[in-house]
Amino acid sequence: MSSVSDRPTGKTEREMVREVIGKYRTKISPSLTRLVKRSDAVAKQFMPSPFESLNFGTDKPFEEGKNNQGIYGLERVYEDRAVLTPYFECSAYCRYCFKKSRTLAGEAKRMSDENIDQAIRFIESDDRIRTVLITGGDPFVDAPLLEKVLDRVFPIPHIRNIRIGTRNILFSPETVTEELADMIARYKRIDEGQPHLSKNISIGLSINHVDELTPQVVQAYQRFIRRGVSVRGQVVLLKGVNDNAQAIRELAEAFLSTGIVPYYLFHCMPVVGAKHFRTSVQKGIQIIQDLAAYSGTTAFQYVYVTPVGKHRIGPNHPLDYVEIDGERFIRATTPYKAADYLKFSDSEKLPPLHDVDENGYIVSHYLDGHDEEEVLR
Ligand code: SF4
Repeated sequence: MSSVSDRPTGKTEREMVREVIGKYRTKISPSLTRLVKRSDAVAKQFMPSPFESLNFGTDKPFEEGKNNQGIYGLERVYEDRAVLTPYFECSAYCRYCFKKSRTLAGEAKRMSDENIDQAIRFIESDDRIRTVLITGGDPFVDAPLLEKVLDRVFPIPHIRNIRIGTRNILFSPETVTEELADMIARYKRIDEGQPHLSKNISIGLSINHVDELTPQVVQAYQRFIRRGVSVRGQVVLLKGVNDNAQAIRELAEAFLSTGIVPYYLFHCMPVVGAKHFRTSVQKGIQIIQDLAAYSGTTAFQYVYVTPVGKHRIGPNHPLDYVEIDGERFIRATTPYKAADYLKFSDSEKLPPLHDVDENGYIVSHYLDGHDEEEVLR
């Protein structure tokens, strides 16, 4: 991470951090407060940094879709998946995430009973939807609301997979009680005679560094694993935190040996105040190439995320660079048809920087990061 000693603003580091705290929200859980004192990798993810004052990024990478069909908390970009956000808040703010933005603070923070009714009716009406992803904010921060949503989603005949995205197991492992794990496990039903009619529930746990796997965190997710609820580990590639093959390999090995399935390695999105966290996309390719010789560790699927969906990137993946307004973008033909995106996302037009090719597929332009030291201006 770069030094701020040569900043041209003339402000002290403390003054700049004070400005950042005024500009963005800061929240940290008691468990994390202890952990940031012990781990630089964790501290960088949760302590406000003067680099957040750099003018950069969007605070609404997905908000367009959170109001699908006029229903707050419903999002859909793929044919087979609906996303529900019952509770918008988190019990800590990761500095690389848009949730710290104050412009989001005034929004409705939870789905009302009416919103849930409407979203369930929408999911019931389309049997192409097989997966419901319940995300946030963090669904586990309001477990009664999560249970209410699960009670409505589980009986829908065509729903086969329920996925819960969370980082609260890291923030507040003490909240993962035996009772909570029992509640989640209730929504798994294996039909041995007709396996295709089974229903699975799984957890996508966001963990970015092996230092986050404290005994309390490991005990917490073991409560789910012991009940047959699979836990998948997803990681954000963060400059100065885990942007090297050794760090990702250690994390993958810790996931595998404690029962977590390595799932996604996300390139850090271009959100507000996150410029200093963003490596080049190529850096992630180099990391997965370096790990390709090891078994298991290559199980991470490296992706970057745009408003139209994920872009999957394998080792040796060639990148097509274009310059737009002096910035480097990656141009890629997506697997998503424009007509499908408009239909499923309930949008009138494609997001900015997205075109359509001659076969009807969306061509995206994704802002790249860089691997040089960040400079304050
Ligand atoms: S837990 Fe997830 S949604 Fe919440 S601040 Fe962190 S990255 Fe964002």
